[in-house]
Amino acid sequence: MPYHLFKCSECIPEREKHAVIKGHGEDLTSALPLGYLNTIPGSITERGCAYCGAKHVIGTPMKDVIHISHGPIGCTYDTWQTKRYLSDNDNFQLKYTFATDMKEKNIVFGAEKMLKQNILEAFKAFPNIKRMSIYQTCASALIGDDINAVAQEVMEEMPDVDIFVCNSPGFKGPSQSGGHHTICIAWFKDKVGTVEPEITSDYVINYVGEYNIQGDEEVMCNYFRKMGIQVLSTFTGNGSYDDLRAMHRAHLNVLECARSSEYLCNELKKKYGIPRLDIDGFGFEPLALSLRKVGLFFGLEDKAQAIIDEETAKWKPELDWYKERLRGKKVCLWPGGSKLWHWAHVIHEEMGVEVVSVYTKFGHQGDMEKGISRCEEGALAIDDPNELEGLEAMEMLKPDIIFTGKRPGEVAKKIRVPYLNAHAYDNGPWKGWEGWVRFARDIYNAIYSPLHQLALLDISKDEIPTDKGFATRRMLSDVNLTEEVRSSTTLREYTGKFDCLPDYTKTKNDPLPKKVLSGAA
Ligand code: SF4
Repeated sequence: MPYHLFKCSECIPEREKHAVIKGHGEDLTSALPLGYLNTIPGSITERGCAYCGAKHVIGTPMKDVIHISHGPIGCTYDTWQTKRYLSDNDNFQLKYTFATDMKEKNIVFGAEKMLKQNILEAFKAFPNIKRMSIYQTCASALIGDDINAVAQEVMEEMPDVDIFVCNSPGFKGPSQSGGHHTICIAWFKDKVGTVEPEITSDYVINYVGEYNIQGDEEVMCNYFRKMGIQVLSTFTGNGSYDDLRAMHRAHLNVLECARSSEYLCNELKKKYGIPRLDIDGFGFEPLALSLRKVGLFFGLEDKAQAIIDEETAKWKPELDWYKERLRGKKVCLWPGGSKLWHWAHVIHEEMGVEVVSVYTKFGHQGDMEKGISRCEEGALAIDDPNELEGLEAMEMLKPDIIFTGKRPGEVAKKIRVPYLNAHAYDNGPWKGWEGWVRFARDIYNAIYSPLHQLALLDISKDEIPTDKGFATRRMLSDVNLTEEVRSSTTLREYTGKFDCLPDYTKTKNDPLPKKVLSGAA
């Protein structure tokens, strides 16, 4: 029986159906962990709420927008310090956090007037920003404030502003995933089709489900530009509000994170007939395949292949340097919804690390199925784990590193397991060929950090060894390598810059290659 009941959860036997160990020859069709269900009482979840999914994951990466939470200030926690969604307008959307800060008296007497006053004050404080998103929370939903009516009133008084309202209170669904769905549908219904864009190429895409974590979007758009493709909008990382209102004019939706925003692509397909093409910007092979697919769609295969050849030749020796040193290292892959299947096989194939566990807090069963199918036998798959289960899993599996978010990551550090922040990574971009090498470098740096030599000592009990000296990262990683690998002149460490983004963005405003008219030779 592949289901797995954690010892710490024996008092919550329903949890058994939420964890599975992949056994020999099993295809898991009869034993997928349950997923996207309400958290079982007694299990303290680490999920986000539906408001969080709508605002913090999808809404706030939009760059030229004042994002207001209509609710208590505590709901706005996830901002600059936890989400590294960069933008090229000096990170306006991350620098400022707006909330109406509802109190008890607003619950009793209503908060619509206060909301209107907040909207007017915010536009006055930032006169260059003319776009706004307002997010409902549990509190404003429960008292029935009509946010749409307030927004409409303001738009009639201030014709140069436009406001989007997202009614996705925390309780709307079992996890943040409910909020992803709500905001996608709301944006599609209320805003798509309300602006007509300038079309400058015969090849026009929306880049959907890309949140520009540490510059990923800018790396990917650089490739599209090189192929002569106009990126009409990005939903939503580094995305502009008005560009996103014009999504209906694209020829193709290129979808990165299917878990968070496939809903929008599906609506665009139904109403406007725009096809959806799923891609993956992580890893040499998945990225190459993705650019080939986009190239094939537009008849730009040669341009895609030229990029693939150039980038692979440049970065493969560096990826292989890390692969030699990461081979056999064990990782718990505990990110959000789709990264568990975007990464599971490719980190194994291209970096040599072994995925011993996957988990998701908000993924659905389909995400689990894809993730598990890409893991090796013995991998432990967990849906919506609580903190104690996470600890027990780490004790059992003894990973060399975990990729996860801040909350479980800080717990891992306490038991001396290094972690990389897989939700909002700190040293990205990790997409693109160079980005993938940066990811390998970050894994290497975390696993072999000399800090662990001290972290593993209990200074209250252990003798401090005085005969070993201090081993550098390189001494630790190379100890079991063959002389041939150690002294290879082909393989090399990452040679890129500390901040590689300017190299990708410097041609950003150059005109696209001359427009090729459809059917022209
Ligand atoms: S669950 Fe409700 S109260 Fe809690 S953060 Fe989410 S919206 Fe705010």
